[in-house]
Amino acid sequence: MPISSINPATGETLATYCELSAAALEQAVARASDAFREYREVPMAERARRMLRVADILEAERAEFGRMMTLEMGKPIAAARDEAVKCARACRYYAENAERMLEPEDVATDAKRSYVVYQPVGVVLAVMPWNFPFWQVFRFAAPALMAGNVALLKHASNVPQCALAIEQIFRRAGFEDGVFTSLLVGAEAVGRLLEDARVVAATLTGSEGAGRSVASIAGKNLKKTVLELGGSDPFIVMPSADLDTAILTAVKARTINSGQSCIAAKRFIIHEGIAGDFERGFVAGMAKLTVGDPLLESTAVGPLATPRILAELDEQVLKSVEAGARVLVGGARLEGAGNFYQPTVLTDIPRNSPAFAEELFGPVASLFRVASAAEAIALANDTSFGLASSVWTNDANERDRFIEEIQAGQVFINAMVASDPRLPFGGVKRSGYGRELAAFGLREFVNVKTVWIGS
Ligand code: NAP
Repeated sequence: MPISSINPATGETLATYCELSAAALEQAVARASDAFREYREVPMAERARRMLRVADILEAERAEFGRMMTLEMGKPIAAARDEAVKCARACRYYAENAERMLEPEDVATDAKRSYVVYQPVGVVLAVMPWNFPFWQVFRFAAPALMAGNVALLKHASNVPQCALAIEQIFRRAGFEDGVFTSLLVGAEAVGRLLEDARVVAATLTGSEGAGRSVASIAGKNLKKTVLELGGSDPFIVMPSADLDTAILTAVKARTINSGQSCIAAKRFIIHEGIAGDFERGFVAGMAKLTVGDPLLESTAVGPLATPRILAELDEQVLKSVEAGARVLVGGARLEGAGNFYQPTVLTDIPRNSPAFAEELFGPVASLFRVASAAEAIALANDTSFGLASSVWTNDANERDRFIEEIQAGQVFINAMVASDPRLPFGGVKRSGYGRELAAFGLREFVNVKTVWIGS
């Protein structure tokens, strides 16, 4: 089946690629496996030198890479350029810190000497989504390669140009053939790759369905996985918060990447004492956003990445309204070319509706009112997801209670949720398991080897 790059703002096909044949896929896996034997011997300083070169390329060519991302998946252009720069930051972070994070650690025991060493594991498969087509890949690849592993990337089928560009960046920075390989294959090839003895572990960022499939095949083959899945993050605002800042941030947090982010705020849980003011400001902010051509610097919300995502979001909103939800602004797709959806706010959301229970992957906010911190926490936790959360309060006791009781991999107080190379990133419950970034991410794909020297 061909793999196509289609501009989501216009519907125009930009490029079409043939899927890798079975023979070409076999060659790619063999090349990666061979490359690992040599690459694991490359000294840390040399790996770091190359990773810094990757960062230089990303920064120097951020305009070109940004345009590629925008044309291929519709992200507003300024955010696309920023994404390339953020990838450079992660590469620099691991180039500068990986050696220290992977240094052998002495442990005092009854042995003459005992210590722990971290060794690379081999070929790691990364199954990645289109929504941050560079960032999702680099935040896996920078630590994986610094640890001495080699990577096979199965990127989302709608971003083949980004996938090929990323492989080229690593090659140009001096990483040998086979150290980082983009495989132009569909999702059905993933099972075969996971069953291949030369592939030792996998990481997936994507939907729950894809996560289940990868985890079960990897499980049958006793291979480690890291899963970064969906989220329906709460954004809680309490009476002591700075309301103007909370409202401005709420609009941004819901519509980042045109609403297609796992850590976008999706459920706005507002204390009834300030709910009226919050609702007015938030609805006005959502209504004011410029929706349109993502290549224009002035655009805040671009198209959704594919017609399927648009159709799914449209259906979720329609079903929620049928179930009794009320539309405060938006609530429909935009007529004409491209996968555009109006920034939308829903309220009076019944439990049995998609807006209550499912992840809405687009610019649609669900607004809830609560009477207390306890009710806010109960509603925040009343979801199958547990990725991140944002809480707005200036009451120290209340803050500590939210930090303690919210079931999520991340709690941000008086700030919008964002990933940062220096801090671990990941979820609990059905948002997945394992961590990316920081030392935690680096150590997901290493053999933590215990050494005991008796005499
Ligand atoms: P998706 O369909 O799961 O696609 C993600 C990747 O998985 C793509 O490469 C896709 O390949 C592949 N894939 C799909 N089905 C598969 C299967 N059965 N077995 C193996 N691989 C499979 O995800 P999406 O709906 O496009 O992306 C949005 C989802 O990703 C949302 O739920 C979002 O919250 C989540 N996400 C999570 C994070 C996080 O860090 N937690 C970050 C970003 C996004 P094809 O493209 O070829 O189908």
